[in-house]
Amino acid sequence: MDDFKLFIDGEFVPALSGEIFHVVNPFDNTHFASVSKASSDDLSIAVAAASKAFAGSWSRMLPFDRGKYLRKIADEILLREEEIAVAETKSSGKTIQNSRNEVVAAARVFEYYAGAMDKFFGSTIPLGEEFIDFTLREPVGVVAQITPWNFPFMAAAWKVAPALACGCSVLLKPASHTPITSLMLANIAQTVDLPPGVLNVLPGPGGGIGMDIATHPLIKKIAFTGEGQTGATIVKAAANDIKRVSLELGGKSPNIIFADANIEKAGKAAISAAFGNAGQSCSARTRIVVEKPIYNELIDIMVDGLDDYQIGDPLDKNTDMGPLISKTQWEIVNNYLSLGIAEGGEVVIGGGRPSHLSSGNFFEPTIIRNATNKMRIAQEEIFGPVAVVIPFENEKEAIQIANDSVYGLNASVWTRDVNRALRVVRDIEAGMVSVNSHGSASRYSTFSAFGGVKQSGVGRELGMEALSLYTEIKNVFIDITDGPAKLEK
Ligand code: NDP
Repeated sequence: MDDFKLFIDGEFVPALSGEIFHVVNPFDNTHFASVSKASSDDLSIAVAAASKAFAGSWSRMLPFDRGKYLRKIADEILLREEEIAVAETKSSGKTIQNSRNEVVAAARVFEYYAGAMDKFFGSTIPLGEEFIDFTLREPVGVVAQITPWNFPFMAAAWKVAPALACGCSVLLKPASHTPITSLMLANIAQTVDLPPGVLNVLPGPGGGIGMDIATHPLIKKIAFTGEGQTGATIVKAAANDIKRVSLELGGKSPNIIFADANIEKAGKAAISAAFGNAGQSCSARTRIVVEKPIYNELIDIMVDGLDDYQIGDPLDKNTDMGPLISKTQWEIVNNYLSLGIAEGGEVVIGGGRPSHLSSGNFFEPTIIRNATNKMRIAQEEIFGPVAVVIPFENEKEAIQIANDSVYGLNASVWTRDVNRALRVVRDIEAGMVSVNSHGSASRYSTFSAFGGVKQSGVGRELGMEALSLYTEIKNVFIDITDGPAKLEK
């Protein structure tokens, strides 16, 4: 069994307590790696190292020179693509093709931020001929980043790369299900000689080391991705010393399909929109909101499309869907399914464990019709491959259904009517909207902002917007006149 240690001050070290925990492969629920478990004592050492690195040369280095490290990290990630992808699949259950795509996407994130920081300026403010006023962008300091298990390596890249570009030093706490690829990132940092203390990786339980992070006085900012309740807990804990907190939380995103859309394309795309990553995606469009005249046809296209959907070993390159992350997650999804049926939903396809897979945390892609938006399965994030199909009469009702949610992460709208598409884009409450697609721009580039409104989060990752998360603005006001000071009245 492989053995992974904490990464503190440029070195891999065991936890001071000597404690470890095991990583489980969701394909067969066997242990395949052990990982040192960080506690508050390890955190203290890591914070001291990160503070020293920040106060030393890292935060003062030319952005261009910091960028060179990020570029080397990107290159090294690509060299180790397969090794990282296999580890990601073994610990998360995501398909190997998804893992490979995400590793490449993570490398692109580092490349992007390698060249971003010397293009992120303050502003000058015109105040007449007597004064000059401008703003400086300064790194926040030591930041902590807490990531989830559903996109472990990519989430780490989305957070670490912009923070390093800005000159912050980082404490990364990966999810306990999936810490290995974050430790591989640490190994890459070591390989490219990133200065010690600039990146530290501290696996351990959220309720332990996670809460210690949230309350540590020298950590200036927390970037969190995960569940809404966890986010709220962190915000409360971080409030004592007014830490900056950005949150990427859950979603229950609508996929609105009008009768004039390319129905074949919309139906096929609705499958990956709802069931990609086994539905364990904050962006999953699991509320499929369909105009009444095409309601049955759309469901038939989806059912047809699922005919050759391969569920099985995620390391097999032909697999479309792997297992859920854990037995617990399987139970949660199954309970939601029972609830949906009790609420009056009708299972069109799927509905539990695939008959050919007796072990592992596998759950069939499941479509539920006769759903209304009031049902709990339409309101709550299931985080598994269960989608509801909700009918609507007209545009107004479609928007009303879409917005009737505590979440506001993504939305899709399918129509050939450009005016209608733009009206829906305008009226929908979401951080990201796609038209005639379920892709968010982050799938294709790292240049666009990712994040949500309402209970889906606070702040935006990716793009130049992420640099705002890791910098403070300092305003500088200068009186350039000579002579006596003027009294302000
Ligand atoms: P959790 O909120 O359970 O965990 C996320 C991270 O927070 C993990 O590292 C976890 O550690 C840690 N954590 C747990 N409790 C605490 C605590 N009290 N204090 C500090 N840290 C804590 O979410 P999941 O990992 O289950 O991820 C799934 C959720 O993430 C879904 O709701 C999903 O929608 C959301 N998500 C949102 C995204 C977005 O961009 N909007 C993207 C991806 C996921 P540990 O693993 O040890 O429990």
